[in-house]
Amino acid sequence: MIPSKVVLLAASVTYLAGGSLEAQNPRSDSSPFRALDMRAASVYRTASGRPGHAYWQQRVDYTIEAQLDPTTHRINGTEVVHYVNNSPDALPYLWMHLDQNICSPTGVNAKLDQPPLVFLGSAFDFSCQGFPGGVTVEAVEMADRPLTHSVFGATMRVDLPQPLAPGAEMEFEVQWHFTIPTNGAARMGRDGSLYEIAQWYPRMAVYDDLRGWNNEPYIGAGEFYLEYGSFDVSITIPSEFIVTATGTLQNPGDVLTDRQRERLSRAIRSAAPIEIIALEEAGDVDQTRPVGSGNLTWRFAADSVRDFAFAAGPDLRWDAASWDGILIQTFYRPEAIRWEEAIDMSIQSIRHFSEKWYRYPYPHATTVEGPVEGMEYPMLTFVPDASREDLQWVLSHEFGHEWFPMIVGSNERFYPWMDEGFNTFMDRIGAAEYFEGTVYGDTIENHALNLYEANAIPGQEQPLITRPVEVENLFWTAYQKPALMLQLLRNRVLGPERFDDAFREYIKTWAFKHPDPADFFRIMRDRSGMDLDWFWRDWVYTTARLDQAVVEVSTHPDGGTRIVLENRGDMVMPAELKVTFSNGNIQTIPLPVEMWNQGPVFTYHLTSLQAVRSVELDPDQALPDIDRTNNSKDI
Ligand SMILES: [Zn+2]
Repeated sequence: MIPSKVVLLAASVTYLAGGSLEAQNPRSDSSPFRALDMRAASVYRTASGRPGHAYWQQRVDYTIEAQLDPTTHRINGTEVVHYVNNSPDALPYLWMHLDQNICSPTGVNAKLDQPPLVFLGSAFDFSCQGFPGGVTVEAVEMADRPLTHSVFGATMRVDLPQPLAPGAEMEFEVQWHFTIPTNGAARMGRDGSLYEIAQWYPRMAVYDDLRGWNNEPYIGAGEFYLEYGSFDVSITIPSEFIVTATGTLQNPGDVLTDRQRERLSRAIRSAAPIEIIALEEAGDVDQTRPVGSGNLTWRFAADSVRDFAFAAGPDLRWDAASWDGILIQTFYRPEAIRWEEAIDMSIQSIRHFSEKWYRYPYPHATTVEGPVEGMEYPMLTFVPDASREDLQWVLSHEFGHEWFPMIVGSNERFYPWMDEGFNTFMDRIGAAEYFEGTVYGDTIENHALNLYEANAIPGQEQPLITRPVEVENLFWTAYQKPALMLQLLRNRVLGPERFDDAFREYIKTWAFKHPDPADFFRIMRDRSGMDLDWFWRDWVYTTARLDQAVVEVSTHPDGGTRIVLENRGDMVMPAELKVTFSNGNIQTIPLPVEMWNQGPVFTYHLTSLQAVRSVELDPDQALPDIDRTNNSKDI
């Protein structure tokens, strides 16, 4: 401590000397460990990364009646939106998303030439491939009176006759229709008579304490950001169709046969899969449908979800089983033979993610085989047919999205790394378990690092924080690099136990809420007890690269060996130092990131008196060190 008088004296001397601060050659803080520039904590979000005492979020409950006409591929819908204003603000208007307008010929998307999201074997085309779609809003009414509404491409502002007061709630109705595209910007669509329906009804935008209305339009790369609430959805469709959806089926007696209901009641108590519709029954209306003609209305209800999707097809096979009381279901067309294993993959995914991170909170987890290359909605995912490894990967990845962002509701229009990346990180651990003992399973956790060289190209690579619509290589920036980031934080910085505990704390604390990056960074520090600002700066906000080097190995004047290391890149990381002694003994020394506190050169004093033959940094090649030629030194 410095006595305050001395400080005052020193300060006055500075001013008496008359020099400006610049003239005295001040140093700015360029330390890699300087505090990350984050938004201030507030009564809504604490400095420890938790919802504050005045945290609020809006609630939206939907009642939707929809008719799907397979002869015209058209959906007509009427929805009643119950909106609860939990904010401290009066709202003069509301914003809604009209995501189907991504397919409008006059929309922004039709004029763009966006790079597709290319995965190793498949590509997501964020266009509608020229399909002249878009939603027609027929009416917006409150208490039978029209509400003024303005459509701006994929968003709509609904003006209120008077502002909605803090704490007040309201109900209004929207009527609309659209024609189902075959490729709905890679997230929904149809293949023949199989429909995968999502981003389909006018949805309330999120109003939050960080940005007010989050009314960024749907352009393609940013998926969706929606409020939590309940759904009561009725879908009317010709009777030959089997329908599955977000939520629990409310009227099985109307839409399923007695035999199907009996099989389902067994499946919910069975760890072993049960065929609800077997191969020889699929597409046979007499065996699978309670009535032979006309329409049926399927009614589903869900709570604590941020969206609602459904799928319908006339010839689907249907397998079901349960894990810990959760109904797990797969629906697939007869030709998708590899999908017979999908139910086992589904059970393992839901069990693994539940046991490892946070228990799956919904009554069912269902996946549908179809044209969409892989997409997730609450309780329901769309997955294509693929090779065994790819099928497990995509199926498990889409189920992983039930955790990020369905349970932990981060903003996908801005931060895909918080859902795609976190999920990809979890998926690798899950896939290693499913394929344990195979070459694929035992090496899958190396994949993210193996992708580094081909994707982290200096001058081209973009920081994770880049908005998804501006990202050129979403495969790397939103999926693989953030997965590598968490893998290294877990295995090399915090250690698995400390990381897993903190990551679980993040999930539990922000379940059914809306965290932003600062909340995540803060709670990871708060729970793990380690300041990680340096780590997030390098990995999220920059494209910093790592180059650790061994520069000198010599006899220490106090005995033992002097090992001089240098951090030559702009990224800091801890290190593992492998020392090989002359007698062949090996010692591995973990060195903490704090070794760089005093600058980029660090001298380690190895006190062992044994003669050293060689030293090597990162012997397991776990870090993305861009120059390995300087990682070792022999004596
Ligand atoms: Zn994904």
